[in-house]
Amino acid sequence: MKDVKNFLDFSYETRPTRVVLRPGAATSATAGEAERLGLRRLLVVCGSQGADTARAVADSLGPACAGLHAGARMHVPVEVADRAVEVARAAGADGCVAVGGGSAIGLGKAIALRTGLPLIAVPTTYSGSEATSVWGLTEHGVKRTGRDPTVLPRSVVYDPELTLSLPVPLSVTSGVNAIAHAVEALYAPDTSPLIALMAEEGVRAMARALPEVADDPESLQARGRALYGAWLCGSCLEATTMGLHHKLCHVLGGTFGLPHSETHTVVLPYALAYNAPAAPDAAAAVARALDAEDAPRALWELAGRLGAPRSLAELGLSRPDLAEAAARTVGEVFANPRSVTADDVLALLRAAYAGEAPGAGVSGTAQ
Ligand code: NAD
Repeated sequence: MKDVKNFLDFSYETRPTRVVLRPGAATSATAGEAERLGLRRLLVVCGSQGADTARAVADSLGPACAGLHAGARMHVPVEVADRAVEVARAAGADGCVAVGGGSAIGLGKAIALRTGLPLIAVPTTYSGSEATSVWGLTEHGVKRTGRDPTVLPRSVVYDPELTLSLPVPLSVTSGVNAIAHAVEALYAPDTSPLIALMAEEGVRAMARALPEVADDPESLQARGRALYGAWLCGSCLEATTMGLHHKLCHVLGGTFGLPHSETHTVVLPYALAYNAPAAPDAAAAVARALDAEDAPRALWELAGRLGAPRSLAELGLSRPDLAEAAARTVGEVFANPRSVTADDVLALLRAAYAGEAPGAGVSGTAQ
């Protein structure tokens, strides 16, 4: 379908995760998922803002609930993970349920990583973390990430009702964060025809859902479609190696403290514009999914139409930081379809800083 060479040489591993999607599933299906997994003492984890929802999930578990721990914080600081592991051990938990966005699921993964306890995820954003075995921990301001099959949620319970409260701006940026996983999966060195299918459908579903969510945030159909898109896009992240876009966002978030999903939303059109000459099939797939000619421009326009931030300046980065961000990015090792120099990244970042239409101001030679 996309890149002929992918039909000659690829591998794809299916990992065991059950996915349930249904309005009300958080409180009607989580106990059943735990039972299927043979779990009888579950610690429910969440962030401070998600405690009411997590309480309802905990109540629905009845005697299988071993406690509720509302300690999740963005990017999983190591001391937050240590504390949660202590709580899980003290409660005699035999499993964990993470209720919330990527931060709460990240805490559940940290518990799973340290203790081996099986994890059930009940996502409330579109980050896609629930579909991956990628964990992250932050120590002394540096975020380490890794992959471990132990942290992949055994069950994912998608409940569109939980996302009705996700404000439209966060819904949009969270959704574009998911789209970014699919975009980079399309040109990843370990992509495959199956991933190409899932990625294109993931982008299509999310790009259709987000304007519907913005028009009618109470629409369960739109919320369900966005969760379906998040799952597809997260599954693409799970199966492939991310490139320049994710590395840039990691540096901008980790070193300069920029907000996660907003940074993804700003950077993605520029990263794709940069990579498109070296990954024309990927760019064409994204364009098809967006029903557009020019994929980077269509992503930029989508963000603009939905009122999302479009410049790094808006996110609080200062111009003198651009050179350091560029140097740090090229100082890291990552796979990318097009070779990357510090000057290339600086040009990309300058365009993203200004929020100008993608394509302009990005120099370099495709390879
Ligand atoms: P988040 O979990 O930090 O949530 C953002 C904010 O939204 C928080 O204040 C939260 O309380 C609030 N919120 C969440 N759901 C809500 C709802 N339904 N209604 C109202 N408010 C709600 O943000 P995120 O974007 O979901 O996740 C970002 C984190 O996840 C980052 O640390 C990122 O690195 C990580 N992540 C990991 C992976 C992976 O595969 N490991 C993938 C994507 C993101």
